[in-house]
Amino acid sequence: MLISPISVFIEVYVDTPLCNGCGDCVDQCSMGVFRIYEEKAEPVQSQACIGCFKCLSFCPVNAIQTRWIMRA
Ligand code: SF4
Ligand code: SF4
Repeated sequence: MLISPISVFIEVYVDTPLCNGCGDCVDQCSMGVFRIYEEKAEPVQSQACIGCFKCLSFCPVNAIQTRWIMRA
């Protein structure tokens, strides 16, 4: 039986209605994952995330969430 390797990635996403557009996630993320678009944060480079969780701890409204993605 051939077993394929599985890679696991962390992905950040924004609960948009909660976001107040403060930009703290943009300032704190050293990997440039976020941008502000129409006064809301959006991840534009999710694949660059290194899982440091800094954005989660700085977001004043807990709008940033994470999920694990598995790829074969
Ligand atoms: S967890 Fe770290 S690297 Fe990933 S988006 Fe947040 S601040 Fe950036
Ligand atoms: S830190 Fe939170 S509230 Fe501020 S722009 Fe980022 S997601 Fe929105």
